[in-house]
Amino acid sequence: MAIILKSAREIAAMRKAGIIVATVLAEIEIAVRPGITTKAIDEIAERIVSGHDARASFKGLYGFPASICISINEEVVHGIPSPERVLREGDIVSLDFGAIVDEFNADAAVSLPVGAVGEPARRILQCGRTALQRGIAQARDGNRLGDISWAIQSYGEAKGYGIVRQYVGHGIGRKLHEDPQVPNFGPPARSVALRPGMTLAIEPMLNGGTERTTVLADNWTVVTEDRALSVHFEHTIAITEGDPVILTAPE
Ligand code: MG
Repeated sequence: MAIILKSAREIAAMRKAGIIVATVLAEIEIAVRPGITTKAIDEIAERIVSGHDARASFKGLYGFPASICISINEEVVHGIPSPERVLREGDIVSLDFGAIVDEFNADAAVSLPVGAVGEPARRILQCGRTALQRGIAQARDGNRLGDISWAIQSYGEAKGYGIVRQYVGHGIGRKLHEDPQVPNFGPPARSVALRPGMTLAIEPMLNGGTERTTVLADNWTVVTEDRALSVHFEHTIAITEGDPVILTAPE
């Protein structure tokens, strides 16, 4: 496993990409409402990246046909935008977006309520957001990768959620997916020693029921095996000598 440490200049390029990612997700958050199609959301993402001399990281990656992954309710990740797919009041929608600027990637995801949602949806949204914060808080020089993993797993499971095993976070830089893998589960104080210059996409996926997932017939959309709700929150961060820097935070 070769982890590529980034220079300050490279991290600054990733921050540029991260601001585009944050802008796209913020614009979509404003647009998300009952009645919008997932294709219309994809078009918002496409319009913003093309206006910023950026590209969508996912478009064409491994053959993915759109700019953004949009996953609704029991869908975990990798949902494909479609003009036939309409958001409905009470849904939760997960939006996963990456951008490339000056050859560097940034990647983030957020799950949002569509209109008024029920208490189980509100609760899993809140816990998913907190799980990501707990993971990021461990992304410090001197800690180990397992500290991030355990912070997410221990919090999510204490709240009663299944922590997805089959999909994990990742190193990120010139490539969207670099070493190391960043699992959302596993024991603390193990695995890779974290160092300044490491850039990681940390991305917990919490399920309302079983942690197990399955892939639909489109060969992309990942759903919970029991069709319970799922949420996905992600930031790209840089490890420094002090606090972690969230490269996909809004400007
Ligand atoms: Mg990612």
